[in-house]
Amino acid sequence: MKEIFEFVFLGIMFFLEGKSPWLTFKADRWHHAAQNIAVKFFNMISIYVIFFLAKYFPPINVWNFSLLGKLNLPYFLEIIVVIFICDIGTYFLHIATHQVPFLWRFHRVHHTDLFVDASTAFRTHIGETLVSNVLFLFFIFPFFGITLQQYLIYQILYALVAIFNHINLPLPDELDDFIKILIVTPNMHRIHHSDKIFETNSNYGSVFSFWDRLFKTYKVKENLKELNFGLKEFTHPRWQDFPGILITPFVSPVKNRLNFY
Ligand SMILES: [Zn+2]
Ligand SMILES: [Zn+2]
Repeated sequence: MKEIFEFVFLGIMFFLEGKSPWLTFKADRWHHAAQNIAVKFFNMISIYVIFFLAKYFPPINVWNFSLLGKLNLPYFLEIIVVIFICDIGTYFLHIATHQVPFLWRFHRVHHTDLFVDASTAFRTHIGETLVSNVLFLFFIFPFFGITLQQYLIYQILYALVAIFNHINLPLPDELDDFIKILIVTPNMHRIHHSDKIFETNSNYGSVFSFWDRLFKTYKVKENLKELNFGLKEFTHPRWQDFPGILITPFVSPVKNRLNFY
């Protein structure tokens, strides 16, 4: 269900990117998108298994607590609070995936993309998806009393904004600046895909742009077309195809061999 929204939105964006791209691709954009979509399909299957298990083995409330249950907010307000909780959780988890070497191995898959377009939003390694879902479903949600249904609402919002902030379309700067007051935009997220580490380690926000401003991880750049996307250790074409993407967390590109620690 959620995926229908994602694929329709991706299809529209991909069509528009073909008409008037912000940056002209040096590679075959269809082949590029197909690899990222393959990653998405692989993840979808795994996520359905997790949700299936979560339904039949409800997450144990390790905290014996439910903050939202105690607050007893009107449903609409509760949804807003849930969206904020999920998004700030995603923000801090994103920082952790950059700072903790083991997590970075999985998250770097998102950063090895040499051409950022709407399909890059789909490029998340299953290892990272598993870590974040287990953390949210088993630890964070029971504490707040967040339901699977509420999580799904956030997931739809997250997925659509992720596609939006990866688009390879020339949004007018004024419009980008206006949207950026609240939501993470392409200009903001492009900096996060820079191959320079001081730029990669900034603009961690997923849906809302204000976490970065609040926690001083916000960065702007004047000439965004000077950016180089990707990671310097992973520019070889083998890291751009589906099998290469899957094994990226387990390799040492410097030694050019598998490295499971
Ligand atoms: Zn990142
Ligand atoms: Zn990204």
